[in-house]
Amino acid sequence: MNNKFDVIIVGGGVTGTALTYILSRYTNVKRILLLEKNSGVAEVNSHPMNNAQTSHDGGTETNYDLEHALHVKEAAVMLRRYIESKADPMLFQKRHRMVLGIGENEVATLKRRYEDFKKFYPDLFLADRNKLCAIEPKIIEGRDLREPVCALVSNDGYIVNYQLLSQSFVSDAKKINSELEILFNVTVKSICRKGDDFVVETDKGAFKSKTTAFAAGSYSLFFAQELGYGTHYALLPVAGSFYSGGALLRGKVYRVQIPGMPFAAIHGDPDILNLSDTRFGPTTKPLPLMERHRYRTIFDFLKLPLISLKGFVSLTKILMNKQILNYVIKHFLYDLPIIGRALFLKEVRPIVPTIRYGDLKLRRGAGGIRPQIVDLRIKALQMGDVTIVGDKCIFNTTPSPGASVCLSNAKRDARRIVEFLGKDFVFDQDNLNRDLS
Ligand SMILES: Cc1cc2nc3c(=O)[nH]c(=O)nc-3n(C[C@H](O)[C@H](O)[C@H](O)COP(=O)(O)OP(=O)(O)OC[C@H]3O[C@@H](n4cnc5c(N)ncnc54)[C@H](O)[C@@H]3O)c2cc1C
Repeated sequence: MNNKFDVIIVGGGVTGTALTYILSRYTNVKRILLLEKNSGVAEVNSHPMNNAQTSHDGGTETNYDLEHALHVKEAAVMLRRYIESKADPMLFQKRHRMVLGIGENEVATLKRRYEDFKKFYPDLFLADRNKLCAIEPKIIEGRDLREPVCALVSNDGYIVNYQLLSQSFVSDAKKINSELEILFNVTVKSICRKGDDFVVETDKGAFKSKTTAFAAGSYSLFFAQELGYGTHYALLPVAGSFYSGGALLRGKVYRVQIPGMPFAAIHGDPDILNLSDTRFGPTTKPLPLMERHRYRTIFDFLKLPLISLKGFVSLTKILMNKQILNYVIKHFLYDLPIIGRALFLKEVRPIVPTIRYGDLKLRRGAGGIRPQIVDLRIKALQMGDVTIVGDKCIFNTTPSPGASVCLSNAKRDARRIVEFLGKDFVFDQDNLNRDLS
């Protein structure tokens, strides 16, 4: 308690470790404490078993318009410059990433997107049936010859192990910053203000700081609300499961986004942990848990405002959209034994027409939870990540593509922390631009 930190960061996933790195490397904020409740970094959503391992850059994400795509691209460049500097094949693999259009409408959508995007994404190209046959043969094998098909492809696709990335951030930060303290197996229980300071209560005692940054996934909202911030938000945890399909795809194959659907369609890609296995997913299944497969976290979920009249009304309004309701029901069924696999097969066949029932295997214990925020004022889902900024404190909830934008979020938050701390603290924008922009 006598030890007062400049900043306490709660959560050692890719968001918290990226902030630890950026602060250590590009600011003179040195008295940093990182608290993580698990015994290592990135064991929740940033673990490679739990997310889709994609570095999104907006080019092939058909649910992003150009403006949003370019914003994500800027963040993707930072991530890619960092990982490229490591040249570690376990950390990332460069493969193609594509969005596949099936049928006349989707093919036309992709052709239009190509025209609008090509100036800003020179890596993108259109691949017709013949080209696809060479690039990704399993997409074309067994496909009806009359079916119009094409893909918008980038050879700058990255498969990233975000857990190794988190380890790399921490190891680099430690080399630069001898005052950095990282404590594992420490669970934050509550937070309060004492005068100007924050007191962070944990199961191993209390810690004091001038500023705090929560990068604790779903729990960030929980602690924000404890301090009275973001009380108009509720949390809708959306779990995503994956199926294994064997050695099928060489790169990342996404589908054109269903118009009006807030959740990404199922895609297929090689697993960075075993490149000869293709994963299909993630599914979309709301679950009353703060963290996937950790059933005790239901008690914390029940304390959040989705369990209230306003929350109930918001959820009903979201699910009254028939398209969303049908989608969610269908995705619930995918986790069921036997029938789930048969239904999921229908979802995967548009990507790999020759795949058989016996090829698919549900990955038990895999898949994380996307902490989607519900704005209770407008009774609607907020897409993308939500950051709540309070008096000298920041709270990040990070659904997809939170991992892709971790360094850009860290840059933004490091700047804020420097401002919170006052005139003795500086942010080295020039060096950051030189290294990562
Ligand atoms: C199915 C799925 C697919 C996805 N695919 C992609 C993708 O392809 N590309 C992409 O960019 N993003 C993807 N995402 C999103 C991405 O995984 C997350 O945005 C990212 O991992 C979030 O990182 P984080 O550090 O904020 O959270 P996490 O990795 O969840 O880390 C939060 C940390 O906080 C710790 N913590 C929580 N509470 C406490 C407490 N009280 N005390 C101490 N520590 C605490 C946890 O133990 C955990 O280590 C996907 C997510 C899911 C679920």
